[in-house]
Amino acid sequence: MRLTDLRLAALEEVAEHGPISAYRLMAQLRRRLARRVDPPTAYRALEFLISAGLVARLESRSAYVLRDRPGQLQPSVLLLCEHCESTVELADPGLLELIAGDAAALGFRLETPIIECSGTCRRCADLKEVSR
Ligand SMILES: [Zn+2]
Repeated sequence: MRLTDLRLAALEEVAEHGPISAYRLMAQLRRRLARRVDPPTAYRALEFLISAGLVARLESRSAYVLRDRPGQLQPSVLLLCEHCESTVELADPGLLELIAGDAAALGFRLETPIIECSGTCRRCADLKEVSR
């Protein structure tokens, strides 16, 4: 797999600004590369980064984030903070095997490899405690 200029720039923008929408990414790429970047080009770069296990799409926010363990293609559980938009990836294969097993028992084949859970991260929870 080749990391072209565009793909590398897209990866760096997601790392810096994620969760980032495809349209914001497109604007960032235009500015950064000083050339036209149309939606199909931006989406193709994102598709590549997703297929390489470097980036995950957050369905609930129509946005993209960097994965915690680049290159892993297994399903994943992402914890999303509603306050600061930070994300943490859970590394618990047992949890995912449980879900995959239950789904298989129903004859259901899992496609979307990302499970999203929203809430409040520790840092934001601590800040709330302090401000009380
Ligand atoms: Zn937070």
